[in-house]
Amino acid sequence: MNNVIVPPPVPTIAVRNTADTYPVHRIYCVGRNYAEHAREMGHDPNREPPFFFQKNPDTIVPNGGKFPYPDKTHDVHHEIEMVVALGAGGKDISIADALDCVYGYAVGLDLTRRDLQGEAKKMGRPWDSGKGFDQAAPCTTIRPASQIGHPSSARIWLAVDGKIRQDSNVDKLIWSIPETIEHLSGLWELQPGDLIYSGTPEGVGPVEKGETMTGGVDGVGEIEIRIV
Ligand code: MN
Repeated sequence: MNNVIVPPPVPTIAVRNTADTYPVHRIYCVGRNYAEHAREMGHDPNREPPFFFQKNPDTIVPNGGKFPYPDKTHDVHHEIEMVVALGAGGKDISIADALDCVYGYAVGLDLTRRDLQGEAKKMGRPWDSGKGFDQAAPCTTIRPASQIGHPSSARIWLAVDGKIRQDSNVDKLIWSIPETIEHLSGLWELQPGDLIYSGTPEGVGPVEKGETMTGGVDGVGEIEIRIV
């Protein structure tokens, strides 16, 4: 039997300071997981159950890359996020077992066509065109948890052309990483290779062509992406 088309490559992310790569299976994203960000988007940050959306794995842009300003939008927003890379999966994973499934951590940008997302929200339509467009998921290299542990308190920040826009701490996540994994694994059978973009703190805003986004999570990594 032959494939009738060339099989698409499996997207991969490098493991920092090694020749190793991490193949990406799926990208899950958590919505409104910091209270101040929920408020700035016009929502009550009380602990409603977490909700999720996905980006396709081939939307990954490696760190230091260029992000082409996408079509059909005039309002692309940055969202800096800590990214969890699973090394094991499962269904109905308990909070106690959740961190055992984590291979490592990275820093990502959940880039958003905010105008298209806003339109979709208003019409009760899916978010895909606002969230899942091509090259919507820049990500750093991964650092294994065996080296850095599981960050529960670390500064998370983003600057545009050197000016700080987002500045918070991952200890402000409404749903912690173990709680997020528990909820996600009730909805999907998680797999090794699944990435979780854990949500963004307040300070999201628009970026323009020619600007450079830099950001990071202390102890995890720093990202730099130029908009072209
Ligand atoms: Mn986000």
